[in-house]
Amino acid sequence: MQAWAVERPGPVDGGPLVRLDKPVPEPGPGQVRLRVSVCGVCRTDLHLAEGDLAPRRPRVVPGHEIVGVVDRLGEGCTRWRQGDRIGVPWLARTCGTCRFCVSGRENLCTDPRFTGWDVDGGYAEYAVVDEGYAYTLPEGFGDEEVAPLLCAGIIGFRALRRANLPDGGRLGIYGFGGSAHITAQVALARGARVHVMTRSKQAQELALQLGAATAGDADAAPPEPLDAAILFAPVGTLVLPALAALDRGGTLAVAGIHLSDIPPLNYQAHLFQERTLQSVTANTRRDGEEFLAEAERISLHVSTVPYPMDRAADALRDLAHDRINGAGVLIA
Ligand SMILES: [Zn+2]
Ligand SMILES: [Zn+2]
Repeated sequence: MQAWAVERPGPVDGGPLVRLDKPVPEPGPGQVRLRVSVCGVCRTDLHLAEGDLAPRRPRVVPGHEIVGVVDRLGEGCTRWRQGDRIGVPWLARTCGTCRFCVSGRENLCTDPRFTGWDVDGGYAEYAVVDEGYAYTLPEGFGDEEVAPLLCAGIIGFRALRRANLPDGGRLGIYGFGGSAHITAQVALARGARVHVMTRSKQAQELALQLGAATAGDADAAPPEPLDAAILFAPVGTLVLPALAALDRGGTLAVAGIHLSDIPPLNYQAHLFQERTLQSVTANTRRDGEEFLAEAERISLHVSTVPYPMDRAADALRDLAHDRINGAGVLIA
């Protein structure tokens, strides 16, 4: 099969991805194989290609927002049948026995595996997944629009949860790409007032169309104090204005897996009055199931920018240069 792999991690314009011929993978015990129909392009793929995330395996196939149809069952599989449409997310496997796994916090598992980092992902014609970590996908969404929900959507949902936004509260969103434009809709459907801060004029327009109260520059002050904020842009300098924009008792959640360095904080200006800075690490399978159900209930609108699978490298370059308004997806 044809697949993309991270050959030499480095600046995206230098071509870190290569196209390879690989054997079609065989599902092991407890795994199923799917024929990929769509794979979303996530900022984490870019961090991996550029080496911000250290490679865990040479020539790994990236991609962890995979939609496809089960075409082969490994030994002992009972959850799926051939022909089922399933989704494969970032969380590929957890140990099931550590103190985090057994207390409902498998996102903090001490020995996790991730799709497109530890195990091959969906920038390919076929992928395999442990059957317990795949999702049933809501029928109201087509393959192209459901793919970005599998990471951008789920992680944003968890970030919103970690940001402790009160009912009808004021939410600030810093950066407005694939994940943010989905999360904003969940918050708006729950009655929040949303302020978006982003450098892209196109993204500001999309935010206003979706119902944001205001949209301004990335480091601009929102027009009112915030109960909660989520930082989606991987830009550590934005932590300061985002913390400063919080009301007393507010929380800033950092949604990304990678963030550039945070400059020194001033305790009075950024943290005092019980403001909280909160990281977000992966998600539990329960987060994913709850999010997919809510996405269907609120008829979430996903703005996608399609690329043919053989243009994956161009899609990553466009993501790096802020040229994708919404969520990029690779069509097999
Ligand atoms: Zn564990
Ligand atoms: Zn992702």
